[in-house]
Amino acid sequence: MDDPPLNNNLVDISPSRHSHDDSKHRYELKIAHHSLIFSSAHFLINHAKCGRLHGHNYSVSVLIEGPITEQDMVIDFMKIKKLIREVCAKLDHKILVPHHSPFLEILITEKSIKLKSHRKLYIFPKEDCMILEIEAVTSELLASYIWKQLASKLTQKQFSVLIEETPGAVAKFGVI
Ligand SMILES: [Zn+2]
Repeated sequence: MDDPPLNNNLVDISPSRHSHDDSKHRYELKIAHHSLIFSSAHFLINHAKCGRLHGHNYSVSVLIEGPITEQDMVIDFMKIKKLIREVCAKLDHKILVPHHSPFLEILITEKSIKLKSHRKLYIFPKEDCMILEIEAVTSELLASYIWKQLASKLTQKQFSVLIEETPGAVAKFGVI
């Protein structure tokens, strides 16, 4: 029996509707938005200027690559923006502490965090700090930290994270 004619008002949503196989094509998205920011304090041990406690308004963007899905998207922009915002929120208005610094002794008590280097001693309220499993709070390692946070929630792993620490100073970590 012949197939019934398609009604012109209906959209064919069968998976084979593409005249070519779009799963073979790679697309790249850039996710950058004024809301993808965090303001945090940090210091870099043994750095002349950045060795002093100071802060930055960091902005985050993501490049993600892959084939398009049945929804004709690599990923839903709203979904990835929400994930980035969640990571930024955890870092925002916090003192960023590099847990694996070889130059810091770190003592964490119930309410405070004590950081001792060969030259300085800091004691901060614990609630004001975000302890990161990195060796130093550089933009490079922040980008890798955020990449890992996003990778734990995304099936796509073909992506990069870019961190702009000051205008024009950008670090990128990832696979594209
Ligand atoms: Zn800095």
